[in-house]
Amino acid sequence: MKKTQVVILGAGYSGLYTALKLERLLKRRQHWKILLIDQSDYHQLKTELYGVAVKKKTFEAVTVPFRNLLSHKRISFMHAKATHIEFAQKIVMTTQGKVGYDKLVIALGSETEFFGIPGLKEHAFTLASMDDAQRIRSHIQKMFAQSADEADEKVRRTRLTFVVGGGGFTGVELATELADYIAKLAKEADISNEEPRLIVVEAGGSILPGFDVKLVNQASHVLKSIGTKLMLKTPVVALDGNTIQLKTGEEIQTATLIWTGGVRANALVAKSGLKCGPRGRVVVNPFLESVDYTGVYAVGDNSLALDSATGRPLAPTAQLALKQAETVAFNIYAELTGKRRKRFTPRIIGQFVSLGRHDAIGWVWKFRVSGFPAWLLKRLSVLRYLYSIGGLKLTVAKLLQLLI
Ligand code: NAD
Repeated sequence: MKKTQVVILGAGYSGLYTALKLERLLKRRQHWKILLIDQSDYHQLKTELYGVAVKKKTFEAVTVPFRNLLSHKRISFMHAKATHIEFAQKIVMTTQGKVGYDKLVIALGSETEFFGIPGLKEHAFTLASMDDAQRIRSHIQKMFAQSADEADEKVRRTRLTFVVGGGGFTGVELATELADYIAKLAKEADISNEEPRLIVVEAGGSILPGFDVKLVNQASHVLKSIGTKLMLKTPVVALDGNTIQLKTGEEIQTATLIWTGGVRANALVAKSGLKCGPRGRVVVNPFLESVDYTGVYAVGDNSLALDSATGRPLAPTAQLALKQAETVAFNIYAELTGKRRKRFTPRIIGQFVSLGRHDAIGWVWKFRVSGFPAWLLKRLSVLRYLYSIGGLKLTVAKLLQLLI
């Protein structure tokens, strides 16, 4: 009997989790294969990337090789980049050749949204991958190294001005960590702490759009207290060499704009011809299956999941991605075993935003949490995730590296 081939594109939070959950569900059955395809040979803890950008965390702390994660599992891994999908023929083109599928899960994650703002894509730094995080780190180090003996005040000021573009979740988590990192580098380079500037430029009227107002105020207060300048209602409209142009008419001279202005689904999804909604996310039915093709599911940042209460798209968070992965794993299992599929009913029980220095804000059920308890809960959620993908061994191995 021919085995049903389940192909999962992307092994980030949602893709890996779908594979592991599905393997567990199908364990006692025959006639199925799971193939996980990713362009990296290691899993990245993307929510921890800001720690790498500020040299608080190492590459090893926030990555796990797939060969470790998938050993003893009935999941095959292909180290390749998907380049195109032929839905009519059920074929995925990859850099390692064609792959046929019976069921497909699109879990290719997101890429940075530049909104067509001139110069951003070419000159701004982004924080979407491990490479990005390492690039930011070495660039900032270089800015301090080059400023130490620089006599020209203007050049010095440009090099020592660090701008985060976008005060969303990524921007705030990064900025609060950057403040400490910059202070540390200034000390090492014998540069006055007064000299480096850290600015968060946000288009909206507040940072962390959509988050609880009291918590947002707390985060704003923390940012200001660590010396960060917050520029609200100030959209970035262009980046030209070392000059950021703002809609207000002002300009900022800087060699460092880290763009955290938003994300959109991996471009491959829309290019392959699937019906997509806002930010290139696949339009799915309540089972998280594409409305165009049966047996094609989309999870995580690739899936346009709607809030059943408001009918509006849900923000693409890691937590939501894991919930979707659970549903899709079950639905494929149900299809293969003749059971009824489940509708996706998101139940988000909380969300946390890290604010550096053992500090965070967030909510769980209906309660606001802040300070050290919030930071601890956020750390515990990372450890819980590690436990779910790699058991006690992986959790213990990463414990100390992630509890800083
Ligand atoms: P985001 O969309 O949440 O925030 C982007 C911010 O950039 C917004 O505040 C927006 O107003 C601002 N912006 C957009 N264009 C701008 C411009 N031209 N000039 C200045 N500011 C501009 O994006 P994100 O922070 O990258 O997060 C992406 C997703 O990942 C979100 O859904 C978020 O919930 C999730 N995330 C969650 C966490 C967490 O739960 N701790 C952490 C990181 C990311």
